[in-house]
Amino acid sequence: MLNLDFHPTGRHFLQIPGPSPVPDRILRAMSLPTIDHRGPEFAALGLKLMADMQKIFKTKHPVMIYPSSGTGAWEAALVNTLSPGDHVLMYETGHFAFLWNKLATRLGIKTEVLGLPGVEGWRHGVNADMIEQRLKGDTSHSIKAVCVVHNETSTGVTSDIPAVRRAIDNAKHPALLLVDTISGLASADYRHDEWRVDVTISGSQKGLMLPPGIGFNALSPKAIEASKQATLPKSFWAWDEMLEINKTGYYPSTPNTNLMYGLSEACDMILGQGLDVVFKRHLRWGEGVRSAVNAWGLPIQCADAKVYSPILTGVMTPEGIDADAVRKVIYERFDCSLGTGLGKVKGRMFRIGHLGDCNDLTLIAALSACEMGLKLSGVKLADSGVQAAMDFFSAHPVPPLVRS
Ligand SMILES: *Cc1c(COP(=O)(O)O)cnc(C)c1O
Repeated sequence: MLNLDFHPTGRHFLQIPGPSPVPDRILRAMSLPTIDHRGPEFAALGLKLMADMQKIFKTKHPVMIYPSSGTGAWEAALVNTLSPGDHVLMYETGHFAFLWNKLATRLGIKTEVLGLPGVEGWRHGVNADMIEQRLKGDTSHSIKAVCVVHNETSTGVTSDIPAVRRAIDNAKHPALLLVDTISGLASADYRHDEWRVDVTISGSQKGLMLPPGIGFNALSPKAIEASKQATLPKSFWAWDEMLEINKTGYYPSTPNTNLMYGLSEACDMILGQGLDVVFKRHLRWGEGVRSAVNAWGLPIQCADAKVYSPILTGVMTPEGIDADAVRKVIYERFDCSLGTGLGKVKGRMFRIGHLGDCNDLTLIAALSACEMGLKLSGVKLADSGVQAAMDFFSAHPVPPLVRS
């Protein structure tokens, strides 16, 4: 039998930036008996989820719901809109942008990557001017799509998507805009229609507070038009069959029914409080956690205060201190998981997730685990980050929820 006794008492502190902790209310919803996915009850659920997810993405257009990880939803966005050898512009903000590029290349898409060089490039958001200049130079309109990551989960940077939209418009370029907000949705402000994004990609295990296993594509009419000409091979991911059968609330193959019960509950929680309340909560948590990191005297991975992520904070460890060794101490001694440094920044930083089902006290506890683990690893801290976070949260009370 698998040993499930790693965490003998209390809750494990899952402070990685996704999967995020799943609220009991959602776990209970998922424990309902599995229903017939061709029966009438399912159709009602399917139609409700389409309407709810449209509110979460802020779109009037269809949202594809796949039984997949976020990576699957990345692939779906590309294979439905592009053809073999198509030229796309990507912007490397960090490891997730890098992985999306790798996936696109494996599909036979010709990618061109913009970004600032070296590790420094992984400390900033998307530079929309670089995109605008490149598109202005593409007078033959050979570039078919611009792909950017909204919340770069590997670094803790949230890029300005309206600025990317403006860059494409200023260049008068017809390229599609494809945006990954796998870790941004339902935590950071996002507006699919208003920002005129053509495909928004997301997943279940971050801001939506669900276990992994659902991937999303939010579409635009222009993306649907493009999908009629796109010839990359696709079958499971194909939008056309989904679009047709989704009108009745059903899916072409078996959807993950119980995760969808969870998704319905998550939407009730998030929409019941209001997205603006959810966004403000994350902004405040981000500020509280950064006040701790600043008090420790450690650098934050994101070097530009304008694009600090409300979802996670990357903490750089001093020269000579392996961030993964610090994480290991924190995991083994205090039962708290933190995100590892990915790719270029492996061993140089760790990530604290502050998204979804957190609250002030769980964050203060997670920061305590960090502070103890950093000290045990021999890091000299300037001051107590835990004290700084307590002071911040005390001085910034959350306004009471107004229920309509
Ligand atoms: C988590 C994440 C992914 C990958 O999603 P999986 O569900 O692990 O496939 C991609 N992009 C971003 C920005 C992410 O945060």
